[in-house]
Amino acid sequence: MIGDSKKKYIKNELNSGVSLKKKNSLKFDVSSAFYAEVDSIDSLRKLLGNDVVRANDIFVLGGGTNVLFSNDYHGVVIQVGIKGIEKIFEDAEYVHIEIGAGEDWPSVVEYAVSKGWGGIENLALVPGTAGAAPVQNIACYGHNLHETLLFVTAINIEDGSKKNFSCTECNFGYRTSIFKNELKSQFVIVSIILRLNKNPVLNTSYNSRYESVENELFELGDPPYTVKDVYQAIINIRQRKLPDVEKIGTVGSVFKNPLISFEQFEKIRSICPDIHCYPERQLDYSSHEQYRKEKGNKVKIPAAWLIEEMGWAGKRIGDCGIWKTQPINIVNYGNATPEEYLGFIDIVKDAVYNNYGIKLETEVVVV
Ligand SMILES: Cc1cc2nc3c(=O)[nH]c(=O)nc-3n(C[C@H](O)[C@H](O)[C@H](O)COP(=O)(O)OP(=O)(O)OC[C@H]3O[C@@H](n4cnc5c(N)ncnc54)[C@H](O)[C@@H]3O)c2cc1C
Repeated sequence: MIGDSKKKYIKNELNSGVSLKKKNSLKFDVSSAFYAEVDSIDSLRKLLGNDVVRANDIFVLGGGTNVLFSNDYHGVVIQVGIKGIEKIFEDAEYVHIEIGAGEDWPSVVEYAVSKGWGGIENLALVPGTAGAAPVQNIACYGHNLHETLLFVTAINIEDGSKKNFSCTECNFGYRTSIFKNELKSQFVIVSIILRLNKNPVLNTSYNSRYESVENELFELGDPPYTVKDVYQAIINIRQRKLPDVEKIGTVGSVFKNPLISFEQFEKIRSICPDIHCYPERQLDYSSHEQYRKEKGNKVKIPAAWLIEEMGWAGKRIGDCGIWKTQPINIVNYGNATPEEYLGFIDIVKDAVYNNYGIKLETEVVVV
């Protein structure tokens, strides 16, 4: 153990031996050999020029809600704390806002909803920072970040230069972007620009095995519904279904929803007759039969459904467990080690493969 969780560190400076226990939502007791939290582009550039930083591996950390530290990190963890939300453009229809990478994403959504601006209300309560949101193109309840995002501004780790990436240049896909692939570990995102709609078009299409946004809205009151209603509906669903990140070690969905051929889908339907399927890139919740007739060859199916159908929802080994109301979520009930947690992931993967012939891919970033 190289870090002491009680030791204080100095912002905008390189610190050695810092505990990451409170900086990863799985609450693993791991440390970083070097750590720096930067709150400006100038501080970030200065840090990137430091000899120790240049001589070591770098890992960029946001809120730590999608990272699985498998061990102590022997390089430099840079946490981006750049704050600020600024309106940079407005016309009759749209507002563009630039958001510092270190802003808390749920607070950004709350801010947009409080102004009545539409576009990100379906992404309510996705934990983490604004800067990490484009990395895996956060998505849920019928909306993908890329549908609202205009630009990402990032600093090149090698030479400190600044680059603006348009939405197209980010190569967004399902739970992925250029920052997870071609440019992995090469840029630090410092801000993002979103285009929000002053005349919001609500997306209430999400429905799953147990719930739908429409039903949730119906519980809230009569139409017409507002951005605020959709936001509240999503919050209600999430709070019922997901573990409280303050109390339980979690990274949300550990697995990606698998992409399979129609032939495979037919086989799965002989085991799980009602299972839904969705298009690969979009979270389109129209009927799968209709989609099947109209679209291409591959479909995405809910990994949670597969796990639940095996009777594994709520399964627990030691302090690792499958969250009962969201079986794609593997939690740490308290004292699980990274090794035990990774072992449990493998057990679930093997069981799914043995039952359905499907190889689950992990969504969480393993460091
Ligand atoms: C309870 C729970 C529910 C969740 N629900 C959802 C959901 O509905 N939909 C969804 O898409 N995700 C969900 N997630 C996953 C997570 O919230 C998102 O992936 C989020 O964007 C991670 O943000 P973060 O700041 O914590 O990033 P981190 O976990 O710190 O980092 C994630 C990745 O982004 C990189 N990164 C972070 N910041 C930067 C930066 N400034 N520049 C460059 N790279 C950076 C890291 O290197 C790492 O590769 C959930 C997680 C939890 C715990």
